[in-house]
Amino acid sequence: MFTKAGVIVEKEVTTLENKQEQKEIPSIYSLRIEELEAWLKGNDEPKFRANQIFEWLYSKRISTFEEMTNVSKGLQEKLANAFTLTTLKTIVKQESKDGTIKFLFELHDGYSIETVLMRHDYGNSVCVTTQVGCRIGCTFCASTLGGLKRNLEAGEIVAQVVNVQKALDEKGERVSHVVIMGIGEPFDNYDNMLSFLKIINHDKALNIGARHITVSTSGIIPKIYAFADEQLQINFALSLHAPNTELRSKLMPINRAYKLPDLMEAIRYYIKKTGRRVSFEYGLFGGENDSVMHAEELAALIKGIKCHVNLIPVNYVPERNYVRTPKDQIFEFERTLKKHGINVTIRREHGSDIDAACGQLRAKERKEETK
Ligand code: SF4
Repeated sequence: MFTKAGVIVEKEVTTLENKQEQKEIPSIYSLRIEELEAWLKGNDEPKFRANQIFEWLYSKRISTFEEMTNVSKGLQEKLANAFTLTTLKTIVKQESKDGTIKFLFELHDGYSIETVLMRHDYGNSVCVTTQVGCRIGCTFCASTLGGLKRNLEAGEIVAQVVNVQKALDEKGERVSHVVIMGIGEPFDNYDNMLSFLKIINHDKALNIGARHITVSTSGIIPKIYAFADEQLQINFALSLHAPNTELRSKLMPINRAYKLPDLMEAIRYYIKKTGRRVSFEYGLFGGENDSVMHAEELAALIKGIKCHVNLIPVNYVPERNYVRTPKDQIFEFERTLKKHGINVTIRREHGSDIDAACGQLRAKERKEETK
């Protein structure tokens, strides 16, 4: 560990080539409690053991099955044969002056993922990754460099929160919020993402309230309908980033497959079905989508929709050509939306002195994965 200009950095150098092929064993963190109960039943063990096991996993946050001292040796062995206790190896840990901590974790097969802890007045929020890489290809995003390598299983997403919680245990603090906005498109790994939500929300697991969880999508329309039908009380965000089809297709190629008018219809369905408002994420890219004219167009697009707009001044991503919108112009954009009665905030920057934008740290440290 060394300290550099207020940034604490921990780093262990390993590369994908170092890694051996490893046997695929499911993670115990992928199981919902009812799935664990069913597994216990199938292995001639009483159902109540599920509560005990969950307590060891999520309250005591053990690292080996042998630590489950009120569970018989026989059951410990059965668990160890059937499941892994997913451990994520910390390759890099960067800490910003504002308290943001960015982790680059290594998975069992050598791939790497990013997880970020952000400090807010209202609590500690963890931004999780759902895929190794991403195939959506948003032009402003470093996470999509090198494409999609694989989906994460639910337990690998859960383990990110558990790992961050372990880091907070030392400070006597708790993870209170989770945002699914890290590397990957959550709706492109829909079933695992849904299991993840249900596990972290469960009171015997991490007990993170539904209203403290936010999932964000680039706009995979069929999954928006499916998610609406789940009728969860989770916060839902759409990465919109453009007020018209042409510009959105330029910034986000997914818009060619799932067009803006159809997307807005899906959003309306979501609101009708859940009664919840949605958040529109709007990254401001200098000279691209950040003029008053764009703000007017955006106001017209979302008129009458129960929503909130999050304006995100973009961080400069070296691999891409977008530049930052000047401060005055950001405020002007905000004022224009407010004039139309739209709820809008400018997102506070987290970790501006570290590799803050999604995918940047991985792109820098793991060039072989992101080529
Ligand atoms: S912004 Fe999200 S959906 Fe788009 S490429 Fe990046 S990770 Fe994928």
